[in-house]
This record gives sequence, structure tokens and C-alpha cells, in this order.
Amino acid sequence: MTTALYTHPDCLSHVTPEGHPEQVARLRHVLAALEGKALDRHEAPLAEEADLRLCHPQRYIDHVRSSEPAEGITQMDPDTWMSPGSMRAALRAAGGAIAAVDAVLDGRADNAFVATRPPGHHAETESPMGFCLFGNVAIAAKHALERRGLKRVAIFDPDVHHGNGTQDLVQSDGRILFISTHQQPLYPGTGNRDEYGPHDTIRNIPLPPETDGETFRMIVTQQVLPKIESFAPELILLSSGFDAHKDDPLASVNLETQDFAWLTGQMTALAAKVCGGRLVSCLEGGYNLEALAEAAAVHVDGLIAAGA
Ligand SMILES: [Zn+2]
Repeated sequence: MTTALYTHPDCLSHVTPEGHPEQVARLRHVLAALEGKALDRHEAPLAEEADLRLCHPQRYIDHVRSSEPAEGITQMDPDTWMSPGSMRAALRAAGGAIAAVDAVLDGRADNAFVATRPPGHHAETESPMGFCLFGNVAIAAKHALERRGLKRVAIFDPDVHHGNGTQDLVQSDGRILFISTHQQPLYPGTGNRDEYGPHDTIRNIPLPPETDGETFRMIVTQQVLPKIESFAPELILLSSGFDAHKDDPLASVNLETQDFAWLTGQMTALAAKVCGGRLVSCLEGGYNLEALAEAAAVHVDGLIAAGA
């Protein structure tokens, strides 16, 4: 069996201002690091508006679409921009996540990595935020539940920033468990430990600055893995941000590349135990280009090893 990779050149057309951390070069570095790996490679399809409506109202989709400039770049929020091509990039990011879920649920792949941008986990129901336009992972989770008949999906978000958008989009749905580890204090300032959601399906695990790999591994082992296992999901989604790396310029958690390899091994082993190995990982953050590429490479190596 195989690990599928979903990506698309359109995701390189989403341009941010000079010096912006969420830059085109991020995806180029990730893809270069995945060259030559034993992946079943696919073009990420464009999401349909009906896919986006699984999480966002039509008026918001219309707002984003109509905000795309014909030339230059447009500011959507203090950190989030659109250029010509951004809407197609965003549709590829959501569409890639959905296609990856379908490939795994149909048994065409053991697991999958979605290498797209813009990322999605900060986008709220009606607000672009933190480099994100649409909630890719939340949309993929809703797709699995609403259209594929799954009863429970777990999302783990180890990006160093709280996945406020994903939490906003999924917390009213008791079929989705959402767990986020994130540095606190840090952007966006949300994700307190006492937010459980109306169905007790939200778990936020704040990490103090300078948290190291040993502490992170203990938290994952003692809090994240048992919670997902007891939820008994039929699919696990990862919001794979690699910005908890010690070299990342936007945060000060001190994971090393090998910690991402360890995490991948834990998540694939858990997926094998609880849901037949069905796991889809979507790229979120990671802003030191070398660290991002290295961490993504060991992550994908772990996915491939699990599928072998
Ligand atoms: Zn992040």
C-alpha cells in the first residue's frame, strides 16, 4: 500500500508581501524535501463551493472570492493577504484535504500528506485570520462525517499556534474530537485549558515557552494519545504545523526534527490501533525553511514506513 501526496502548483500562486513568513518558498522547500520519496503523487483538486459550505456560510465564501485582487495584493486581516491566484490556491488546499480523506477511506492509500498553502487552522467561520482563508482540516472532517458516513473523527493539531479556527468550526459537532498543543502565551491568544466545547470534545494543552522535546513527548503520551484512543475515531486528521521546531522564528518551543519523527510514529501507531491506520496529515505552519523541510521530510518518512 501507499502514502498519497496531494499538492498543486496553484498553491505557489498565492503570494504574500516581501518578508512575510507564510511565503511561496515554504511549499517549494517542502516539495524539494519530498522528491524521490515513495509517494503516490496526486494533483490536489479544486474544492467546490459546496465543500467550503460544510464549514463556512456562502456570504463568507463570496467575500473571500470577491476580495481577490486582479493585480497586486490585498490585505484581509493584519496577517492575511490575497494575490491573484489566492482563491485557486485556497480551493486546492481544501480540495486536497478532501481528496486525501477519500483516498484513505476508499483504501486507495494507507495514509496521506497534503502539501498545500494557504494553511487553514486559524480561519474562523466568517473570518480570514493568521495566514488562513478556509478551514481545510475542519472541512475534511465534516466531509468524512456528512458525506462518507463516518461517526467519529479526531483532529490533532500540534502546530505551535492554537488552532482557533478549527476549534470554532468543529466545536458544535460532538462527532469531532479536537486536540491542540500550542505555546501560550503566543498568537492568537486563545486555546485555554478550560475550553472544552459544548460537547466536551475540545482539549487544549498550552505549552510554556521553551518547552522541550522530552516534555512534549510526555504530554503526547499521557494526554493526547489516550484521549484520542478513548474517543475511538474512525479517521485521524493531523493539522501538521512544524513551527514548534526550535529554529522556528515565530515561536519559542524547542522541538527538534527527531521529535516530529517520534510524533509521526506515535500517531501512525495509534491510527493502526484504532482506525485501521487511516490518517490524513495537512500542512499548516513552519516558517524556518530548512527546519520546515527537514521536519516535513521525517514526517512523511514516518507515514511511508507505517504504510509499508
Ligand atoms: Zn503555526
